Parts: sequence; C-alpha cells; structure tokens
Amino acid sequence: MDDIICKVCGLETESVSHLFYRCPRAKLVWKLSTLRLDGEEVGHGQWDRWWRSKMENWSSLSEEHSMKNMAAFLCWQIWKARNAWVFEQKCYENPIKWQAPPVDVLKVNTDASFCKVLCEAGGGMVLRDHRGKVLRLASFFFQRVSNPLVAEGLVLRKIVDQVIRWGYSHIVFEIDTEVIVKAAMLDGSASLLLRPLVEDIHEWLHHHPDFDLVYTPRAENEVAHAVVAYALQEKNIYLWDNNFTDFVLHKTSLDVIFDSN
Ligand SMILES: [Zn+2]
Repeated sequence: MDDIICKVCGLETESVSHLFYRCPRAKLVWKLSTLRLDGEEVGHGQWDRWWRSKMENWSSLSEEHSMKNMAAFLCWQIWKARNAWVFEQKCYENPIKWQAPPVDVLKVNTDASFCKVLCEAGGGMVLRDHRGKVLRLASFFFQRVSNPLVAEGLVLRKIVDQVIRWGYSHIVFEIDTEVIVKAAMLDGSASLLLRPLVEDIHEWLHHHPDFDLVYTPRAENEVAHAVVAYALQEKNIYLWDNNFTDFVLHKTSLDVIFDSN
C-alpha cells in the first residue's frame, strides 16, 4: 500500500493527476512558473480535462508556442524532481532557491564568467520584483580581461551603471562572490587592476542609499547564469525589457521563489 502513496507529499495515491496537478509541490511549480497558474485554478477536477482546456485556451493566443513549450517543460521538471526524490533522495524537501525581496524592493541577481584562454568575460543580470516577476534582463561582454576578479568587477560595475540608467530605485544586488562585495566596501583588499572598478561601484552606491549590495552564498541563479552563457556565445551586449527569449523564461521557472513577506 505504502508504495502507491505520493512519496513527495504523502497525501494521496500517486496518480498522473496527483503527480502533475494535485500534489502541493506540483501546484507550487505551476503557480510560480511564468505561466502564473494560481492555486484556485490548479488542482481541482481532473488533470486531463484541465490540460486539454489549457491547450485549447492557449491556441488562440499569440504566445501559444512558448506557453505550450513551457507547460511541457514544467511537466518534465516535475517528473524529474519526483524521480530524484524517490530514487536518489535528492533534496526535494526544500525547493526554495531564490528569496523574493520585500514589497517595493527589487532584487538584482548577477553572474559573471571568465574565459582564461580568450581573455573574455561575460556578465548577466536579472531584475525581479517581490513576486519574482522578471522586469529586466541584461547580458554584457568584455574583451582583454586579465583575471576572474577583474571580470567580476567589470560585470558588477556595468550592472550597477545599467540599473542607474534604467532609473530604478530600492534595489538589492545579490552577489555570490564575497571578495567583490568586500572590495566594493573599500576594505583595501582590491588589487591594482580591480581598485578603479570597485571605487566606481562604491561611489555610485554612496549616491544611491536605497541600493544595497549583499553577499549571498550559493544563491541559485539559473537565469543570470543562462544570460551569461548567452553573452559569451554571442560576444555581445543585450538588454531585454520584455520579449524574454524562451530559454530565459524556462530558467526563471527553475529559480523557485520563496515569498519573504
Ligand atoms: Zn504528492
């Protein structure tokens, strides 16, 4: 009897309907995904009927293709997460990866990558609100970069500059490289090459007291990571304010959010 109860939530028999639709974990995935399918709508009645009606509804929309893609992608992720939990006991306990900022505060997550062979660096950022909605995305590309820390400094300076240009206020910049955060506080640790970069960052933050730079260890950051890979591949700068490409939207849904309010 035990083996047919859902191993993720332990609440019901693990039917297809439960796994993809009624299980609390699955409902959370649908809700927090870019499809924004809320609790009221998801999890009632039969899965196959719901799925058919969704497919029909989306068929009339211009974003039909990307919505259907996303729905299929989410099913695949739910199935993979379930298997990781059942067969490998891989941490399905805590799906919290990305923590939402308080209401009226926006959060920037960043990522930087350095290619030693080509002396190139890529940077990426994603700006989200307290609901996890993506407001802006940007990717940056730099050449003739001497080392990984300088790459981090270049990327962070560019990102702070870009956020100021966009005119946003009340921003938390979440950085997963502690060295850069400390250097930007001008703790004296910055190398000669890094110093002018962190001095700029420090000054801009000084003029924007509503900006906060925080170090967050291992902040899971699929979106910024994907954007960096894109920057390095395309060797160019991209700024998005809407029409986020499919691959980026898929990644946003992976950064499962936790509402801190
Ligand atoms: Zn369940």
